[in-house]
Amino acid sequence: MQEMTSVRNKKRAEVVIKGLKSRQMTGYYAETKEEALKIALDLIPEGSSIGWGGSVSVADIGLKDAVINGNYNVLNRDAAKDKKEKREIETKIFGCDYFLSSSNAVTEDGILINLDGNSNRVAAIAYGPEHVIMVVGMNKIVEDVDEGIYRVRNTAAPINSQRFDIKTPCKVNGCCANCKSPDSICCQLLITRLERHPDRVHVILVNEDLGF
Ligand code: SF4
Repeated sequence: MQEMTSVRNKKRAEVVIKGLKSRQMTGYYAETKEEALKIALDLIPEGSSIGWGGSVSVADIGLKDAVINGNYNVLNRDAAKDKKEKREIETKIFGCDYFLSSSNAVTEDGILINLDGNSNRVAAIAYGPEHVIMVVGMNKIVEDVDEGIYRVRNTAAPINSQRFDIKTPCKVNGCCANCKSPDSICCQLLITRLERHPDRVHVILVNEDLGF
């Protein structure tokens, strides 16, 4: 069964990569987390400045640990001592060489869909860092934008909310209530239908369930 899923994932990834290319983004396919990590590290020259937004997928393949322990200039928001310092690091990240992220969903024809609370992540995906490297499990591939938005609101966000100390309906009952809670993690929706700068966005599709 897993083997058939892998065969399908590879064929589907080829379609997604073609879609990404039509939108001036570059796609890759990795069979394993280890392969995904190697692709990512091969893209980043030593000495580069690197930052990230909140992403479980980037951590899942070991990319965060690899750059923290490697020869890079890491802007580590996770190590900030308080909110003020975290914001300072997030602001500096807009000028970094490589921004690491996932995408909440990617359509088969290569559109990226991202929904954010604090919105530093969607802002940096849209503009700022010289390059963006995305790590995306094949569990996040959707047919179209409508399915992608549905997935983010009804799967990714309610699971993601369980990680945070927030008061939202989805945190309490696991379902989206289309809230306007001050704690909502669904404030800004970014749909990337085309990247202006070729070679800026690199999307590594991974034959694994990563993130939410
Ligand atoms: S309940 Fe609010 S925070 Fe939770 S998924 Fe829905 S809109 Fe987002």
